[in-house]
Amino acid sequence: MMNKGTILKTARKYILVIITGLFATGMQASAQDLIPLSNLNPEWSKPYEPFRIAGNLYYVGTYDLACYLITTAQGHILINTGLSNSVPMIRKNVEQLGFDPGDIRILLCTQAHFDHVGGIAEMQQLTKAEMMADEGDAEVLTDGGNSDYALGGKGAMFKSVKVGRILHDRDVVSLGGVRITMLHHPGHTQGSCSYLLDVQDDKGSYRVLIANMPSILPQTKLSGMPGYPGVGKDYACTLRAMKQLKFDIWCASHASQFALQKKHKPGDAYNPMAFADRKGYDDELDELQKAYDDKLKEQ
Ligand SMILES: [Zn+2]
Repeated sequence: MMNKGTILKTARKYILVIITGLFATGMQASAQDLIPLSNLNPEWSKPYEPFRIAGNLYYVGTYDLACYLITTAQGHILINTGLSNSVPMIRKNVEQLGFDPGDIRILLCTQAHFDHVGGIAEMQQLTKAEMMADEGDAEVLTDGGNSDYALGGKGAMFKSVKVGRILHDRDVVSLGGVRITMLHHPGHTQGSCSYLLDVQDDKGSYRVLIANMPSILPQTKLSGMPGYPGVGKDYACTLRAMKQLKFDIWCASHASQFALQKKHKPGDAYNPMAFADRKGYDDELDELQKAYDDKLKEQ
């Protein structure tokens, strides 16, 4: 039989064990082991001179991994971060344009793959910004890519991202007078998305499309993947929707997808219309449609 004192002592011991257990789990999560990534394209981490695209929209990404800064008087929005080791480069680019990375309030991404969201967790830690993500990518962001239907299953590829707000098709992200509409464009990931926003300068207003072009990974089967049975149907919807979009200028998740290096050379003067190029957009979508059709025939 236990007296009152012994019961209290025992209870205290168990509480201590529970607390220690929680602490150990917490330690494990923060010292998260990431699986090593190989064969990374060197252009993904090559520096690129940041510049003003149009109005309050700036390019702050690497040579190929596009990151976009949208500035407002109430803080800034950053779309994509590149690889995990690109964070110092992105921060330096933001500073070089005269802005404080500490003023970033909202983080967004175009797709939850490690080459676009690798630095989000660190950026979140540095800025306390809120991550807002398409519903379809929220889980993948949280588990570091392990639940990704095509690349996942081997462990975390990037540090776990805390998602503060879940976005659905046509949801609007607002900050300091800027309104960004999210367009759900699933396929490449289940929550791939594009963004539409209007920016102004002293010459006028531009409707900007930041597009996530629906490229298909070699391992994807359009007849359906175990983690994503509707992948083929989603790609078809996304291709159809993207062809109908109207905009004045466009850019994309990878610089190579919108021929950034041809449209803007380091040191070039401010010229939003260099990014008009409707034909380039349509041609790129035609190619992606062809890749989709060819892959359907294969299966
Ligand atoms: Zn990707």
